[in-house]
Amino acid sequence: METTLSIVKPDGTSKNVIGEVIGRFEKNGIKVVGLRMIHMSISQAEGFYYVHRERPFFGSLTEFMSSGPCVVMALQGEGAIAKVRGIMGATNPDEAEEGTIRKDFADNIEHNIVHGSDSQESADYELNYFFNSLQIFG
Ligand code: ADP
Ligand code: MG
Repeated sequence: METTLSIVKPDGTSKNVIGEVIGRFEKNGIKVVGLRMIHMSISQAEGFYYVHRERPFFGSLTEFMSSGPCVVMALQGEGAIAKVRGIMGATNPDEAEEGTIRKDFADNIEHNIVHGSDSQESADYELNYFFNSLQIFG
């Protein structure tokens, strides 16, 4: 059993697809074990995405992530880290498989609706970034 961190990004909340995103996880056997809505400051977004701090898109990404509310979720299931990534689809929606969240809703490689931890190490860091142990029910 794994627990991973997912985010409905500001483009997802503004497009009114929070329920759609959560529903796709739930329909695939993933359980929501923690959830809240936040609006990150630039520095909170920088801390979340610190692994990308040297990337050319870091400024634009952190500005986007702090541009509106997000829904942050702890998701649990067998192989949840990889499973959630599969349901999300590739980072670039043009390369995402049919039926994935990003293929269906994302505008471009940056505004791609949803985040999911990419490894156990990232999941541990990212879950801790938004949730304490009393806020996760699984
Ligand atoms: P993923 O979210 O699929 O794990 P990455 O970890 O590589 O992708 O990148 C983190 C986020 O940064 C992406 O989800 C996307 O919002 C943004 N991003 C990634 N690559 C680019 C890019 N080339 N240009 C602009 N934004 C990008
Ligand atoms: Mg990533």
